[in-house]
Amino acid sequence: MTDLQDLPLRDSLRGQTPYGAPQLDVPIALNVNENTHGVHPEVQKQILAALSDELSGLNRYPDREFRPLREALADYLGDGLSADNIWAANGSNEVLQHILQAFAGPGRSVLSFGPTYSMYPLLAAGTDSEYIEIPREEGFLLSPEFVAAKIAQHKPDVVLLCGPNNPTGTTLSREAIIAAYDAFDGVLVIDEAYHEFETDLPSATTLLNGRPRLAVSRTTSKAFAFAGVRLGYLAADPAFIDALRLVRLPYHLSALTQAAALTAVRNAPLMLEAVAEIRAQRALVVAELQSLGLRPWQSGANFLLIDGFDNPSAVFDALLDRGILVRKVAIPGHLRLTIGTAAENKAVLAALRDILK
Ligand SMILES: *Cc1c(COP(=O)(O)O)cnc(C)c1O
Repeated sequence: MTDLQDLPLRDSLRGQTPYGAPQLDVPIALNVNENTHGVHPEVQKQILAALSDELSGLNRYPDREFRPLREALADYLGDGLSADNIWAANGSNEVLQHILQAFAGPGRSVLSFGPTYSMYPLLAAGTDSEYIEIPREEGFLLSPEFVAAKIAQHKPDVVLLCGPNNPTGTTLSREAIIAAYDAFDGVLVIDEAYHEFETDLPSATTLLNGRPRLAVSRTTSKAFAFAGVRLGYLAADPAFIDALRLVRLPYHLSALTQAAALTAVRNAPLMLEAVAEIRAQRALVVAELQSLGLRPWQSGANFLLIDGFDNPSAVFDALLDRGILVRKVAIPGHLRLTIGTAAENKAVLAALRDILK
């Protein structure tokens, strides 16, 4: 039997493991930060009609520039942005891949501050870019001075800053973003996958004006409850968007994806209806976890990084025995928990109370 090691694989991919968050059929899946509330029934109906309208034209390639979708995304973001400022792809993972294909690559480097999103090193490896991970400061924080000093020291080609940060939930300050931008000549990407769950923090899109090397990445996979469709997007200077056109595959967004996403984005208020409830649930879950003697970190996202487990792996297994899937992380004593519906959260807290007693 042929083994992977027998194939003429690129050296930089040898020994790597693919992204592999477990996909298990369990009653309560709270491991990949999906919105567990589901798509609003009214929007479901409209999406079905929009998809149906596309069917007779599926013999043709889709609109390569997906202009109506970019207009809708620009309207949703506001901040004076227009379709020329917008890019989209199959998940923000593909958006990030386009950025690294255009601005990183062999002989170039990508820098981030860990612990952070586990896809960053994989995207770097896939584009043959060097990945530099700098440990965050105490409490997973990033001060402007620290960020600027590390970037100036390493002079990377691309910096990825995740805010709120996965897996810690830590929010990212405007001062840190500005300091990062001013510290080097490369591309700065703010990954705002969880922005809609933050309260009161303006998006980094408000910093785009006059900063052509800044890009703000978003996704419909989390707050929008649309992970199954695969639609991520980005806002940046129009010249930045032109760079991404050089590396995207032609027609990368299918006509069905465009139709479904356009309908969803035009119905943003309905799609985002559960966000306020998830935020309220987050506060309740924090209080309950604390009453169990656990230490959830401050979070601006729809998940909590929880400290205080003597044996996180055993707790993970005991939860799974009860049909609850959470996330193991590479941080000792911690687990990560997505905030679910009220009923799901109640079940998790009851299970934890039982397991930890
Ligand atoms: C979930 C997540 C994404 C979203 O990826 P998609 O490809 O859009 O589903 C992006 N960045 C971070 C940090 C995430 O946690």
